[in-house]
Amino acid sequence: MKKQKPHLSCSGIRTFLDCNKKYQYQYLDKINIPKDHSMKYLSFGKSIHKTLAKFNKIRDQSQRNIDTLHDLLRKNWIREGYTSIEEERSFGLKGLDMLTKYYENPKDQGKKILLIEEMLSIDLKEYILDGVLDKVYITHDNNLEIIDYKTGNNMYPLDNLQLPIYLFLSKEKLGVYPNLVSYYFLSHNKKYTREVTKELINNLSMDIHNLCTSIIKTKDFHHNSTPYCKSNCQYYQLCSILNFKCNHSFNINTKLKN
Ligand code: SF4
Repeated sequence: MKKQKPHLSCSGIRTFLDCNKKYQYQYLDKINIPKDHSMKYLSFGKSIHKTLAKFNKIRDQSQRNIDTLHDLLRKNWIREGYTSIEEERSFGLKGLDMLTKYYENPKDQGKKILLIEEMLSIDLKEYILDGVLDKVYITHDNNLEIIDYKTGNNMYPLDNLQLPIYLFLSKEKLGVYPNLVSYYFLSHNKKYTREVTKELINNLSMDIHNLCTSIIKTKDFHHNSTPYCKSNCQYYQLCSILNFKCNHSFNINTKLKN
């Protein structure tokens, strides 16, 4: 039987860089242990993403109003993961507030939308790279911009791991690289943007390809035990039961994490 090509994504690569063993459990052995405490954040993030995707697809300007946007959140609300009605309600109110801020001063408007929330895959011979583009559009001053909506409270810059994946996806789907790539932090209604240059494309493409190749060639998956394993890793019990020896020496291309 023909061997299937491995799939890699930004979250998979990050998991590998955090702990090889965790990557093996999650992406190769496909051991599905949901992280209970993060389920509500996942549900919340998905609800907002679905809402914005549907809102951004509305062409009729008379329909693009705040009531429509709020109604879309109600219709697309995912209830999973909340520990009480009160908690769910407070997240719901936070979502409505977030969307109101967005509606009043959107930072992703331009001349033409090229793509809204699409899951894409690129076949790169040895592996397949998967990712989602939330929105790609032409700005009023003719830049091609990729937007990634973020629904958490923390704001952080676009790193050299996520950026090249967006570049590849854009090139694959639209035939061109973007000029701008932005994280849109909806809680604060602020956008962090990085300009894309030819030099950046060349450097990052090489780095990410080398990293992906080393991941797919890895045979020995080390543990990267930290004091946060117990609180942060859903495989902590499995790791403890199997009583693996932890390996602190793992160090692969960590510069990409920054
Ligand atoms: S518990 Fe720690 S060492 Fe084990 S898989 Fe999770 S992160 Fe890795």
